[in-house]
Amino acid sequence: MDIRGLFLDNPRRRRILVGGGALKVGLCEVELDSTRLRDGKTRPNKPVRIYDTCGAWADPDFHFDTSKGLPKIREPWIERRGDTEAAGVVAHSEKNPFGGREVRRAKSGERPTQLAYAKRGVVTPEMEYVALRENLALLNGVEGGMSPDAPRDSLLRQHRGSPNRPDFKITPEFVRGEVAAGRAIIPANINHPELEPAAIGKNFLTKINTNIGNSSMASSIAEEVEKMLWAIKWGSDTLMDLSTGADISDTREWIVRNCPTPVGTVPLYQALERVGGIAEDLTWEVYRDVLIEQAEQGVDYFTVHAGVLSKFLPAAARRMAGIASRGGSIMAKWMLAHNRENFLFEHWDDICDIMSRYDVSFSIGDGLRPGAIADANDSAQLGELKVQGELCRRAWAFGVQVMCEGPGHVPLQMINENMDCQSEWCSEAPFYTLGPLVSDIAAGYDHITAAIGAAVIGWRGAAMLCYVTPKEHLGLPERGDVREGVVTFKLAAHAADLAKGHPAAQYRDNAMSLARAEFRWRDQINLSLDPERAESFRRKNDADFIRDNGESHHCTMCGPKFCSMRASIEIKEKFKTCGEADAL
Ligand code: SF4
Repeated sequence: MDIRGLFLDNPRRRRILVGGGALKVGLCEVELDSTRLRDGKTRPNKPVRIYDTCGAWADPDFHFDTSKGLPKIREPWIERRGDTEAAGVVAHSEKNPFGGREVRRAKSGERPTQLAYAKRGVVTPEMEYVALRENLALLNGVEGGMSPDAPRDSLLRQHRGSPNRPDFKITPEFVRGEVAAGRAIIPANINHPELEPAAIGKNFLTKINTNIGNSSMASSIAEEVEKMLWAIKWGSDTLMDLSTGADISDTREWIVRNCPTPVGTVPLYQALERVGGIAEDLTWEVYRDVLIEQAEQGVDYFTVHAGVLSKFLPAAARRMAGIASRGGSIMAKWMLAHNRENFLFEHWDDICDIMSRYDVSFSIGDGLRPGAIADANDSAQLGELKVQGELCRRAWAFGVQVMCEGPGHVPLQMINENMDCQSEWCSEAPFYTLGPLVSDIAAGYDHITAAIGAAVIGWRGAAMLCYVTPKEHLGLPERGDVREGVVTFKLAAHAADLAKGHPAAQYRDNAMSLARAEFRWRDQINLSLDPERAESFRRKNDADFIRDNGESHHCTMCGPKFCSMRASIEIKEKFKTCGEADAL
């Protein structure tokens, strides 16, 4: 794959670094064309800065070699804190070029977690980094300027959000406070120094996750690394490696060393592989060893299905679709075979203790999420959610950061109940939802089914939305499916941010709307979520009709005589409006 070409394909969207001193944060800056005014003059348009997840891969001077990995920007921050120590060195192997890497863990008695620092009142460089990159209104020069009272055609026009929040001014102290309260997490394993820290919480930009990973039937290390690069190029905020096939450890090492976003896993999958795929043979000892191995590789968050308790299984068995979660079904089989309680629940404190030594965050699994609309909000799902709340508070006592996973398949009218229950029972810990899918009938289009639910639950307060691809329920997603899923979910997350009243979200929409009204086609393309696709459609449009003297004030959709945008310019001229939309 041409990685340089993938990330540097558009000279009008480039990575810039902002911030002072040693703290430099990468953003994407979209350069805009000037507006042609009626008097023949032009008016320049300020570039628009948007959140960026590409890391150094979008830096033209980078080496673009996945066997070398990303720069270790967090290394000095971690070492300076002095609460961790070297615990060994990774060996070289044929499939792992990252041998020689030093593994770190907490010094005896220390808990080097962002939550522990936050509770002690310490603002870490990770928190400062988050504050810088989240403060997009400030970075676009419109902080405090966006208003419902600004003229309609002003870039500063801002609808009131719902629920109404006065501003989205994100300071390092604000980030610390949200982490300390458990309302946000910064997944940041001390063995993932390549990470560009990001916050997941309802008072930050809504994030999305991409699942990748091989299966026993498809894919290779190279293909999974490619999917990871595709995911971050299109804007994925975190990445879950759900590999269950060959080379699980080596695949993960390649991904973590090259991924600038937090990486999550479900350690149960590798534990199952260790016992030959036989759920009944799982033991705490096998699981514990996998946890430590993955924590030492640098995984930033673990999905742990500890809320799947034996008392919920009869209700799950009566469902339309039974237990849809892989992890949930594995633990259910184990409990039934041994006639014992879930060993993940029984060893919860041991798991917290291990994770606190590396600052691995929890994503408490929703092993009993509904896999069918008919099963939504049943007693098994809601019972597990209550247990998640209890586990959440126990993890906080160990200084471990927590988010909770949520459904699944839920019709629109039942989404609010999910969000409200999670918020109350889990003490506002960030909610990370799969979709939810709002119908079961859209095989082949389930990324859309899920994005509809995701936009709604994101608006109501879910902090991160797990993407779904068109292949959901049908097969392992490939590179193109990853792109389709990521872009669709970026849209859902953005729609949620707009509804919450995030000023930077509306600013980008305003910039796009103005470009559209002024027929600045190139800006319309570059401000979109998928400029490549928008440009390919526009190119097809250009090939389909012969322009009148280079006329570009219409497209093939309506043609020049029916173009309402073109007519609008004449109508504005009649009323002599002279706001920002005063274009030719
Ligand atoms: S022709 Fe129709 S779709 Fe195309 S720019 Fe004009 S109004 Fe928009």
